[in-house]
Amino acid sequence: MNDLLVIGGGPGGYVAAIRARQLGMKVALVEKDKLGGTCLNRGCIPTKTYYRHAEIMRSLQRLDEFCIQLDAEPARLDMAGTRARKDAVVEQMAGGVADLLQAHGVEVIRGEAVVEEPGRVRVGEESIRAERLLIATGSESIRPAALPGAALPGVLTCEELLERSAIPGRLLIIGGGVIGMEFACIFQAFGSQVTVLESLPRALAFLDQEIARRMSVLFKRQGIEIKTGAKVESINTQDDHLLITASDKKGNVQYEADLVLLAVGRSPVTAGLNLEKLGVETEQGFIKVNQDYESSVGGIYAIGDVIGPPMLAHVASEEGRVAVERMAGMDSRLNYEAIPHCIFTFPEIAAVGLTQEEAAPRGIDCKIGKFQFAANGKAVAMGESEGLIKVICSPDDTVLGVHIIGPHASDLILEASLLVNLGMKVEEALHMVHPHPTLGETLYEALLDVQGRAIHL
Ligand code: FAD
Repeated sequence: MNDLLVIGGGPGGYVAAIRARQLGMKVALVEKDKLGGTCLNRGCIPTKTYYRHAEIMRSLQRLDEFCIQLDAEPARLDMAGTRARKDAVVEQMAGGVADLLQAHGVEVIRGEAVVEEPGRVRVGEESIRAERLLIATGSESIRPAALPGAALPGVLTCEELLERSAIPGRLLIIGGGVIGMEFACIFQAFGSQVTVLESLPRALAFLDQEIARRMSVLFKRQGIEIKTGAKVESINTQDDHLLITASDKKGNVQYEADLVLLAVGRSPVTAGLNLEKLGVETEQGFIKVNQDYESSVGGIYAIGDVIGPPMLAHVASEEGRVAVERMAGMDSRLNYEAIPHCIFTFPEIAAVGLTQEEAAPRGIDCKIGKFQFAANGKAVAMGESEGLIKVICSPDDTVLGVHIIGPHASDLILEASLLVNLGMKVEEALHMVHPHPTLGETLYEALLDVQGRAIHL
């Protein structure tokens, strides 16, 4: 009999399984597809591999700026080779997950799990028993059934687009959220003409509004067309391409595209698990859990995308760790107010903590500090000086939020996360000497600006 059986080998499930072994539990993990889950096989890692190819393509287009002359014709991306490299990266990382699970003594069972009752799971013909079950089955792209034409060939989810070996001439993306805008930047750099249709007034509308507004300008500058307030009504085929009809306040508008990417959200993967019969409560399909990550049915726990937002790989992993530590009697918890998130657009975006708009309804008369990358020597030397860093503080100078657009924002957010997580004051943060010349000096200057004493502003 196992102490714990984990269903799903994504970043939530496999991290939980390894941590549970470290805590001395006997653990089995069931995976129906590939270890590493969405993150490794169809999400974070494949997209960031493409992102790197896109980054290099963008650099090649700027050789003149850096006084580099190549005799060859303008660079062209070999998409089949790019896809093959992405697959090789994924394969290498997936092998690593399998090795880790083996090294930690987690029994991996291949197949689709069906929960028969608390403490018992069926995988094919096999019935497996465990004191506790942890569901970490993740999420999948939504293909909206009500949208006419959503099932046409050439209308793809992000998982399907990652399997293509050709670059579409015209790519139309429905949805200007994180996944939509990351693909927009990647394929624009690959050479596609990219249009994004977003029903809200702005792409990435959940961000701090100043950051979202600035990004809209930068998206436009790199040639991405974003139509906001546009509701897609239908998709049809016309000759050899797709015809997309959208309505906005002026009426119906039509767009032509060679491929359409559906990036309208993700739904939890619970079908076939037998949760309804067992009485496991859900909300909009996501499994409801308490602070121990236990569902409404005792002994059945859930973590990761399947319990709802924030749907991020590092959140799934941390929830997995915290859930099993609490099973082991530890008082672990996750501070959901201070989870960093990164968006791999050009330039990168990263944020942690409160936005300026979220501070007001909480009655916080926030103090703000800002610094532009255009005034940072390292960013200017890199030729990557677009963007800004914005710090949100309480009236007593406690750092409540940090929002960044700029080069390596996804790395810069780590220091900001520390400040927000520890509830540090500006004065305390300024004790840390920031080396020169680094991108990190922008955070230092933005913190100084909260107190009106930035040096290079
Ligand atoms: P998953 O990774 O979805 O894993 C669930 C696993 O469970 C899968 O392997 C599945 O096969 C298995 N499973 C399902 N049902 C069963 C069953 N009945 N029996 C057995 N096995 C089952 N997040 C970030 O933090 N950073 C990023 O840059 C980022 N980029 C992304 C880009 C894209 C295109 C997408 C789609 C997502 C991205 N994400 C990113 C989100 C991230 O991938 C997810 O938040 C993360 O994978 C969730 O982890 P999980 O363990 O909850 O689920």
